[in-house]
Amino acid sequence: MNKLSIVATPIGNLEDITLRALRTLKECDVIYAEDTRVISKLLARYEIKKPLQRLDAATEIKKADEICARLEAGEKVVFVSDAGTPGISDPGARLVAQVRARLPDAAIEAIPGPSALAAALSIAGMDIAEFTFLGFLPHKKGRQTALKKVAASDIPVVLYESPHRIVKLLTELGEASPASRVVIARELTKVHEEVISGAPHEVLGHFTAHPDTVRGEFVVIVAP
Ligand code: SAM
Repeated sequence: MNKLSIVATPIGNLEDITLRALRTLKECDVIYAEDTRVISKLLARYEIKKPLQRLDAATEIKKADEICARLEAGEKVVFVSDAGTPGISDPGARLVAQVRARLPDAAIEAIPGPSALAAALSIAGMDIAEFTFLGFLPHKKGRQTALKKVAASDIPVVLYESPHRIVKLLTELGEASPASRVVIARELTKVHEEVISGAPHEVLGHFTAHPDTVRGEFVVIVAP
């Protein structure tokens, strides 16, 4: 029976994959991946061999045609992004929208699993009954407006950030929102996992004192 499965994959630790995700990967006809080299490591670890196709942000709409044709032919198709849950600051949403629009009766299932967003919130140690997720802030146009939105929020705001811009972001937060509390979850599920918290200038001080930690992947939570 044809089906499109949107499968969450590990955000670092290859053991973070559900039994259902592994079964879905084993039973599918083809895997579309944001980067086939990344998924290959996971598949090798679990001894799964499947045809791989690339589907990234640039090819999402074009590849949706191909996937619709496969689904119409009765295939089981999987989509995985590089890490975590597809569609969360990753490709996937436009693929799902296209398939749903063109094949309204096609089965589209979520195979839930890791997401850096949920993992960071789970160890942030703050009241997260409500929060806003903004993902990556715009790099240029709209950045100041976004920073003002973060500063004005009366509930925690969760951001994704790269090592190249983490110091810049903390500097900007120190100016826009000096009294806020920042929690940074770095390298979640990996060897160098750590959580750093404090006022923006304190967290910035930590990175200045330990420049070797300005690398890897970061989730930034800004609490009022
Ligand atoms: N779809 C993914 C998810 O569900 O979390 C997010 C993909 S987004 C392109 C990548 C960003 O997620 C990184 O720049 C970082 O902000 C965050 N991230 C991913 N893995 C992480 C990890 N192991 N530790 C901390 N942050 C991580």
